[in-house]
Amino acid sequence: MARGLWFLSRAVGRLRPLLVQGPTRGFSASAPEQLHVCVVGSGPAGFYTADRMLKGHEGAQVDIIDRLPTPFGLVRSGVAPDHPETKIVVNQFSRVAANGRCSFFGNVTLGRDISLSELHKTYHAVVLAYGAESDRSLGIPGEDLRGIHSAREFVWWYNGHPDMCDLCPDLKNTESAVVLGQGNVALDVARILLRCKAELATTDITDYALDALRGSTIRKVYLVGRRGPVQAACTAKELREILGLKNVRICIKESDLLTTPADEEEMRNSRIQRRVYELLSKAASAHGGNNYNDQKELHFLFFRRPTRFIPAENGSTIGAVQLEKTVLKGDEVTGKQVAVGTGEFEDLKCGLVLKSIGYKSLPVQGLPFDKNRGVVPNLRGRVLNSESETATVERGLYVVGWLKRGPTGIVATNLHCAEETVASILEDDKKGVLRPPSDSKKHGRTGLLEILEQKNVRFVPFSGWEKIDSMEKMAGQLRNKPREKITTWDGLQKAANE
Ligand code: NAP
Repeated sequence: MARGLWFLSRAVGRLRPLLVQGPTRGFSASAPEQLHVCVVGSGPAGFYTADRMLKGHEGAQVDIIDRLPTPFGLVRSGVAPDHPETKIVVNQFSRVAANGRCSFFGNVTLGRDISLSELHKTYHAVVLAYGAESDRSLGIPGEDLRGIHSAREFVWWYNGHPDMCDLCPDLKNTESAVVLGQGNVALDVARILLRCKAELATTDITDYALDALRGSTIRKVYLVGRRGPVQAACTAKELREILGLKNVRICIKESDLLTTPADEEEMRNSRIQRRVYELLSKAASAHGGNNYNDQKELHFLFFRRPTRFIPAENGSTIGAVQLEKTVLKGDEVTGKQVAVGTGEFEDLKCGLVLKSIGYKSLPVQGLPFDKNRGVVPNLRGRVLNSESETATVERGLYVVGWLKRGPTGIVATNLHCAEETVASILEDDKKGVLRPPSDSKKHGRTGLLEILEQKNVRFVPFSGWEKIDSMEKMAGQLRNKPREKITTWDGLQKAANE
């Protein structure tokens, strides 16, 4: 038996009722024509797309593939462990996966196990929802020194993503960490570094991360923004949470809070910006006074941009970040205030740097990609063959989520994004675009299973994930946590195969 057959027979077993659903008495005349849809990526954008597709078309058969053996993308590996309420959405996604017209194929990598053109030939519609699994880089000297990580790597590490379980960030040899960027991801990583470990112990943070954080010597975290407090990219709820951490002193320079007419104008136009600014101002005056010895410190540094990473004496690990002071200038093209260097520099000593300046999507072979914006060029989710004005639509190819609009927005933002993309698919199907007479037959799920079998790809069905899930929950119970995640590729595959 080929390596993948055990899974194959189980999946086909689940599918049988669908495959034999041919003409039956009193039903055949109105049975909707099948529409085979493949969604690549099982994060929020992928699952919302599957959900809307199943609801929007009675004949839709939706297969979701993911390179990980586990579903839910950023909800599992991105959302902070101390934000369990954000993860509740997996219940909704699990109900989608349980729909008889939906199947999950974990452990299948687009571009390695199956190509985009193979998917294209097999499905009426292919929806790319694989998000942003890489990082923007600063492109400044010293970026590869030890002790510098992207925030994504650090987040994946404490959340047990199998690609980052061996990161082992050194939290023991320094008292200062620098986080570059002031978005919500920056706040997440700063909060995890500073939060009381007893509070973290009851979350689904991985055991190894909790141990490392318990042994951490980091007392000071610097959140560095290249612009001012009015432009901080975080949102009010997340800011309020970090400002309220137990036993953490907040340090903000009063002089950084002075505003210009342009700042006031920005705040008039954005409630979120005004709220963030107000919270920072309040925190600056509330925390100005006492310092207790055992208190940790969170420093908000504004108007500073990183220009160089300076090695420690050993020459190979990070010792300090060189920062250039900035001022804001209006950009004529975008109308935004941008940071401009002043030529005045200072060094900020640290032993850990987390670069939190944004995630980055990567293209796969055969996919049009706008390198400057880091997105797939698209028209309401329909993939375009280039960014030019004369671009044409790639029939049957769609995009959703961060790959469609860039790496911004919360979980719920993907719902509207998915609705737009699904509306485009349904419209195209109605117009007959997805089934031109000249086109060969699309086999959908049976075609996918054949390709995976031929290539000996051992995929993990949703029932495999359910085994991982129950093992993790059982292990968590013993530690008084919601779950103890399995964090290695081998461990996950073994658990799925139990
Ligand atoms: P983000 O919100 O876009 O923030 C990126 C930060 O990096 C900004 O402060 C930006 O400053 C800075 N930056 C970018 N390029 C830089 C450079 N070359 N040098 C210095 N600084 C630079 O991205 P994110 O924090 O990765 O978050 C991604 C999305 O996920 C956001 O929409 C966020 O709200 C969401 N998210 C939400 C939650 C939550 O709701 N709890 C949690 C995590 C993430 P400028 O503004 O000057 O460009």
